Amino acid sequence: MSMTAHSFLNHPVEYLRGVGPQWAETLRKEANIQTLKDLLFYFPYRYVDRSTFVKVNELSDAHQYVQIIGKFSRIQELGEGRAKRMTAVFSDETGSIEVVWFNGLKWIKEYVKPGETYVLFDKPSLFNGRFNFNHPEIEPLTLFQSSGKTGLQSLYNTTEKMKKKGLNSRALHKIIHQLIQQIRPDDVPEILPDSLLHVYQFPSRFKAVRDMHQPVSWQELGQASKRLKFEELFILQLQLVRLRLLRTRDQGIVFSSIGQYFNTFYNHYLPFQLTEAQKKVLKEIRKDTLSGHQMNRLLQGDVGSGKTIVAVLTMLIGIDNGYQAALMAPTEILAQQHFSGIEPLLKPLGLKVVLLTGSVKNKDRKPILQGLEEGTVHVIIGTHALIEDAVKFHRLGMVVIDEQHRFGVAQRARLRDKAVMPPHILVMTATPIPRSLAMIFYGDMDSSVIDQLPPGRKPITTIHKTDAGRLRVYGFLKEQIAAGRQVYIVYPLIEESEKMDLANLMEGYQSICTSFPAPQYHVSVVHGKMKPDVKDHEMQRFVKGETHIMIATTVIEVGVNVPNASVMLIENAERFGLSQLHQLRGRVGRGADQSYCILMTGYKMTRESKTRIETMCATNDGFKISEVDLDLRGPGDMEGTRQSGQVALHLADIAKDKEILEQAREAAVKIMAEDGDLRLPQHEKLRNHIIQMSAPGNDWSKVL
Ligand code: ADP
Ligand code: MG
Repeated sequence: MSMTAHSFLNHPVEYLRGVGPQWAETLRKEANIQTLKDLLFYFPYRYVDRSTFVKVNELSDAHQYVQIIGKFSRIQELGEGRAKRMTAVFSDETGSIEVVWFNGLKWIKEYVKPGETYVLFDKPSLFNGRFNFNHPEIEPLTLFQSSGKTGLQSLYNTTEKMKKKGLNSRALHKIIHQLIQQIRPDDVPEILPDSLLHVYQFPSRFKAVRDMHQPVSWQELGQASKRLKFEELFILQLQLVRLRLLRTRDQGIVFSSIGQYFNTFYNHYLPFQLTEAQKKVLKEIRKDTLSGHQMNRLLQGDVGSGKTIVAVLTMLIGIDNGYQAALMAPTEILAQQHFSGIEPLLKPLGLKVVLLTGSVKNKDRKPILQGLEEGTVHVIIGTHALIEDAVKFHRLGMVVIDEQHRFGVAQRARLRDKAVMPPHILVMTATPIPRSLAMIFYGDMDSSVIDQLPPGRKPITTIHKTDAGRLRVYGFLKEQIAAGRQVYIVYPLIEESEKMDLANLMEGYQSICTSFPAPQYHVSVVHGKMKPDVKDHEMQRFVKGETHIMIATTVIEVGVNVPNASVMLIENAERFGLSQLHQLRGRVGRGADQSYCILMTGYKMTRESKTRIETMCATNDGFKISEVDLDLRGPGDMEGTRQSGQVALHLADIAKDKEILEQAREAAVKIMAEDGDLRLPQHEKLRNHIIQMSAPGNDWSKVL
């Protein structure tokens, strides 16, 4: 198959001396290591500096790994059977610590000689107020000095099961060391083009891999790690940029006319004037849909920036050209809301808009599906149910995906199969995505931003208060209500503490009812445990202005549009994530009046919570907030990125390695522009490498 099929590194790990079937099995099951190559690319997760030593009286629990020079005394065997263990005291001139061994006692007995000087290396653990070492690495000082083990030492991740089989970090270190002794530069051939190696002064692939395991200095380690991270991101970007490139080679539907529906709607039914930002985005979409290639565009715009109307107009362009349009939302509530907003807008035009979600009954489903297939339905709004196989379109031409962090490259690709020609795709997201994340998750798309709010909106004022300020806050709410405004009060609710959270909310409700007594004040309460019709009724009361205050869990995060609401008070704000806080804040400030977001927290907060609250008070800019969010949480925890699951980065960290990512993207764009199929001789090795990485039979562009 590939040229390297017989390479040395394709041998199973048993090939190494000392690695028997048991270890091989464990390595395979626990760490997905099968071949020597897998082992070679199993990099340390941390490094410790073995050139420095600590004295016993300097030990603190801040220490990760330490080295101490000292002598053993009082070596004794204790216990019986399973409780059998050996203990010893290890002392230097400043004090002593206890060392315990639970197995390998026979070996210890022979190896540890009282009076001789050893180097002890381990992670200290505090036990009964004393530092304790279990199974430390020990070595006579003379041996240590001659072993050259004075620089950085690699630590490898191991699971409990690996440790049980004796495959601890030290054992891995040993077998990897053995492997490295045996490999030659040809075993780890270069894949990056010379020009890149030259520009960034990267070490060769061979040297980088070796330095990752056995770095001589922090500096060389840094260079090795930078090169390998770059390589990882670069290959990912090559694939994404190529996906974009391939689109421009395929034929796409041409929406040549702006016709009756668009013009009629624009001239007679548009409820307001579009902002410049909205117009600009529409122009971009217009250009895409005229280009003769499939549109694949990401539209980012903060909550309330007016994405919906852009979606409506975009769908009308499709309908004007004889195609159907679909709008997909991540939840039923959102789909429903879009339906109840859009259906009446398009009705006067004589267009048929239908809603399809998981909860639509079978008998109602039939006419919908039939109408879609026959082409009598113009617009379908729904959830993921829309891309199921049962849903067939007459002529699908435009797909709008709302709020989709959850929609990966692969899912977008499925839409291609829904029509003869791939439909145009517009993905809208209200949580602005940091540039680095967008490059990874939407790297195959073009991007538009609505960076302007509809006119007349005043920036929301955000303030932070603790319980001490509660009375003043309530006074302020009363002023707002007296001025005719309405107020949201939101409580956190998470699954793990659902009961307590609900109790907390109900308690809050009681206390609000006391502080805001009837008949002067009316209070709604809404939470996830209510029956849908009761919940809906309560929401409607607030929407209609019959109640002044709405107490809720985050259910309101995804929905309701009440322009008259001017205060968003968030209880236990320290428990919310940044993007959630920002989304919640976006629920107010929809009218022309000054609006407020009040963040209530306890006195004590973690440093992270403090940063979140400060960020919220300092800015309304969703992009800035998402950058801070990424820095605080790391990419793994960013909302939605896990589900999209298409990107498994082993080395690079999207939050910390932004600069490398930028460089990788830039390099990928440049190479794809010159040589989109990597056919030039200087790209041959790169091309072969990518083909090898992807599943058999795959065109290398479809690896994702
Ligand atoms: P989002 O981007 O969060 O989806 P919406 O599309 O729901 O925002 O718009 C938020 C509110 O702003 C809606 O009430 C909408 O009618 C209104 N709106 C949108 N565009 C404009 C505009 N150009 N001028 C005035 N109001 C607008
Ligand atoms: Mg929206």
